[in-house]
Amino acid sequence: MSARVVVVGSFNVDHVWTVADLPRPGETLSGHYHTGPGGKGFNQATAVARAGAAASFVCALGDDLGGQLARALAVADDIDLHDLPSEAPTGTAGIYVDESGRNSIVIGPGANADLSAEFVATQADLIASANVLLAQLESPLPAIEAAFAAARAASVYTVLNPAPADAAIPASLLALADVITPNETEFCAQLEQHAGERVDARSVGSMDDAALHALCRRLLPHGTVVVTLGAAGCFVSHAETVLRGDAREHYRVPAARVRPVDTTGAGDAFNGALAASWTRRPVQAFADHLHYANRYAALSTERAGAAAAMPHDAEVRARFG
Ligand code: ADP
Repeated sequence: MSARVVVVGSFNVDHVWTVADLPRPGETLSGHYHTGPGGKGFNQATAVARAGAAASFVCALGDDLGGQLARALAVADDIDLHDLPSEAPTGTAGIYVDESGRNSIVIGPGANADLSAEFVATQADLIASANVLLAQLESPLPAIEAAFAAARAASVYTVLNPAPADAAIPASLLALADVITPNETEFCAQLEQHAGERVDARSVGSMDDAALHALCRRLLPHGTVVVTLGAAGCFVSHAETVLRGDAREHYRVPAARVRPVDTTGAGDAFNGALAASWTRRPVQAFADHLHYANRYAALSTERAGAAAAMPHDAEVRARFG
């Protein structure tokens, strides 16, 4: 079995200003500025590579400095890049963060919006060579669905991170997912959309396990749901017939204890590490991969930044054994 993860998704150049207060209309402020790579797709591809699996990244990039940055970073992290050249500018995110950690964000999808089902179809052999396909929803749905269809045709495992929370996921895409990995907000958004059930996201973490499992079964009857719970770790719910090497249908995995300084990209770290661990150690129980993903994501919160904060496998092992 190949030890490769193919990630399909977005690349953004993040521009971050830290200010005392968020700017009001018409106001001009000065603040501390920094920039770095981001985009859920690239963050997750970086996590896959640094967690020790071979990583391929399918995306769309502009012919500009942002595109050059993506290419240079892919080389540095040994990420096998398959990019659709776009005439649009490379994706960007403008982020203001105030002193209490609140933020305002504007995303310019740019080239990311050009990722097409046609281009993804040209990557079918690459997808078929993978053990796991991982995608999020910052890219056009037809492209993601084409990737999942190619993976399913080749019996490659599919992991869908249904983020951001406002993404409208067609039932046909959910049907192609072996595993979905929402956070609490994304879980509730998808539950309302697909099962007509309204649940307060703040109540998910403290919900009775059997009740949470029942909700997961309604959302993805055929597959595995992993709900990430921030500092509380994660909850997993398997279909009765597909336990993925686990003894139990549902259980929680507590988070690792760390001193977080920036939880941006924690979900991306979790997803990349989960896919990498599943790919590298396919015969191990799913619970082992979740333990690893929790540790990996926890360590990422001790560093500032998105893709730049992803730890290496050796650092995770040195820290947690
Ligand atoms: P998202 O970043 O998508 O909102 P979560 O906040 O649920 O996702 O975090 C994803 C994962 O990151 C969690 O399941 C956990 O493993 C880890 N994590 C997040 N915050 C913390 C924290 N404060 N301490 C330890 N681990 C954390």
